Amino acid sequence: MLTGQIRRNRRVARRRAQEALKFRHMPVRKGDTVKVIAGKDKGRTGRIMLVYPDTERVMVERINIVKRHQRPSQRLQKGGIIEKENPLHISNVMLVCPRCKEATRFKREVIDEKRVRVCKKCDEQIDQT
Ligand SMILES: [Zn+2]
Repeated sequence: MLTGQIRRNRRVARRRAQEALKFRHMPVRKGDTVKVIAGKDKGRTGRIMLVYPDTERVMVERINIVKRHQRPSQRLQKGGIIEKENPLHISNVMLVCPRCKEATRFKREVIDEKRVRVCKKCDEQIDQT
């Protein structure tokens, strides 16, 4: 049936639009320093190494370490237990302002035609123009 096909296409289009929206709304970026506000590493800070916009997760340096039991393979000659970071959900981290060194919320402003993030606590811009 043709209607079924149309409905499916609409569903796909809507999902793509939602994904595009999500991508734009990632609040933190690679290189940002964040503070963990929930979970076993609560209170610790680290730098973001990787961002996963599709799952809204971030990989933070030395945070959320998990032990993996690695079997010996061709790539990794030795097996055993290896420690590795696991991604955290963005709702569990907060951006740390580079100036006031506090976990903060931020607002977006346009300075010199560039969108930058501005700290809500000290009003300093977080991103360089
Ligand atoms: Zn600040």
